[in-house]
Amino acid sequence: MFKQALVRLDDAAQNLEIDADVLEKLKYPRETTKVRLMIRMDDGSRKSFMAWRCRYDDTRGPTKGGIRFHPDAAVEEVETLAFWMTFKCAVMDLPYGGGKGAVRVDPRTLSKSELERLSRAYIQAFSKVIGPDRDIPAPDVYTNSMVMGWMADEYSSIVGESVPAVITGKPMALGGSLGRNDATARGGYYLARHLSERLGLPSSARVAIQGFGNAGQHIARLLSADGHRIVALSDSRGAVHCPQGIAFERAAEAKLECGVSGLAGSEGVAAISADDLVAVDCDLLVPAALEDMIHEGNASRIRAGVVLELANGPITPEADAILDRRGVTVLPDILANAGGVTVSYFEWVQNRQGYYWSLEDVHDRLRATMEREGDAVWHLAQDRKLTLRRAAYVHALARLASAIEAHGTQQ
Ligand code: GLU
Repeated sequence: MFKQALVRLDDAAQNLEIDADVLEKLKYPRETTKVRLMIRMDDGSRKSFMAWRCRYDDTRGPTKGGIRFHPDAAVEEVETLAFWMTFKCAVMDLPYGGGKGAVRVDPRTLSKSELERLSRAYIQAFSKVIGPDRDIPAPDVYTNSMVMGWMADEYSSIVGESVPAVITGKPMALGGSLGRNDATARGGYYLARHLSERLGLPSSARVAIQGFGNAGQHIARLLSADGHRIVALSDSRGAVHCPQGIAFERAAEAKLECGVSGLAGSEGVAAISADDLVAVDCDLLVPAALEDMIHEGNASRIRAGVVLELANGPITPEADAILDRRGVTVLPDILANAGGVTVSYFEWVQNRQGYYWSLEDVHDRLRATMEREGDAVWHLAQDRKLTLRRAAYVHALARLASAIEAHGTQQ
C-alpha cells in the first residue's frame, strides 16, 4: 500500500523539476510511534490494543491527521494515510504537515465506557508526541466528536491547563467549530458543484455512494437537497440499488436500524453485492469507505463519468490507469476530501484566537478554499495535460519543495 502511494510521488516528480533532496525527504515517514495500550474492560478483565501515531512530514507546519479505530489497522496503513495527509494539507495550502494515528480495535464491540478508557489511554501513551504546535489529531474512520472530546479532556488533564487546539473535531461544548461535522462531504460537494459544468455533470445526476458513514451520509444529504438522485448505496454490511432514487431520510433511518441493506425489498430497491455497487449505471460515483476499493479487478466495470473520492485512497494506481484510459474523471482524494482537514484548520485557528465564527463564515471560507485550490488543480491539469490526481500531486509537491528548500539545505 505504501509503495503504491509512492508511485504518485514519483509520478508527480516527473512532471516537476525537483531536487533529489526533496524526494529523499518525502519518501519516508519522519517518525512512527507504536504503543500497546492496556485498558480495563467492563467485566474486570484487562485487554491490550496495538496503537500508532505517525508524523510523516512537518516541513510545512505541525503534523495533522485523524485517528482511526479499525480492526484491520496496521502500521503500513497509518504511514500511508499520513503520507496522504502531507499532500492534502499542501494542496489546500494549510500550514500543516501530515500525520495519522490508529488503534487496532473494532469499536463496535466496546461499551461506551470501554471506548472512553481506550481513547484516554491513547492520549496517555502519545501525550509527548501530540501538541497544538507539534501534532494535532482529529476524527477518522470509526472515531467522532465524542472520542475527540475525551481525548482533548485527557490531554488538558495531563498538561494541567486547557489546550483545545491540540485536537480538532471536538464537540461544540469543548471548543469545536460549527460546520466541522459535515465538512468532508461539504468540501467535496462544493468542489463538484463548482466544477460540474466542466465535468459535464447533469443538473439532476444519478449518484452511487460507497460507504454510509460520516462522509457518505452527509454527501447523500447535500446532493439529494440539490435535486440529485441517489441510485445506489452501500455500507460494511451490504449494498442496495434503486434506479428511481432512494430518499435520504429513509436511508438514514435504515442505517440506524440495521444498515442500508434494510432498504432492500421495499419499492423498487434491490439488494446487490458490494462489488456490483461500483458497476451501477450512474453519473457520479462517490467512494466514501476505505482504501483500495476500486482496483484492477473492478475498475473497468465503472459506468460513472465522474468519481468523487471522499475516502482516502479508494482507487489503486492500476485502477487509475484503467479509468484514465476509459475517460472517467477522478476528483482525487487529497483535494476532494480535504474539506474535513480544512475545517479542522478553522477550528484550530478559532481555538487559538478564542473567537468563534458563525456557520455561515465557516461555509463561506470552506467554499472559497475548495474553489480556489480546485481551480488551481484544474488549470494545471489542463495546461500540462495531466489527470486531476497528477495535477493535485504536482501542485502539492511544488509547495512542499519550496518549504523544504526554505528550511535550508545544509542538513
Ligand atoms: N480524517 C480526516 C482526513 O483524512 C480529517 C483529518 C483532520 O481533520 O485532521 O482528512
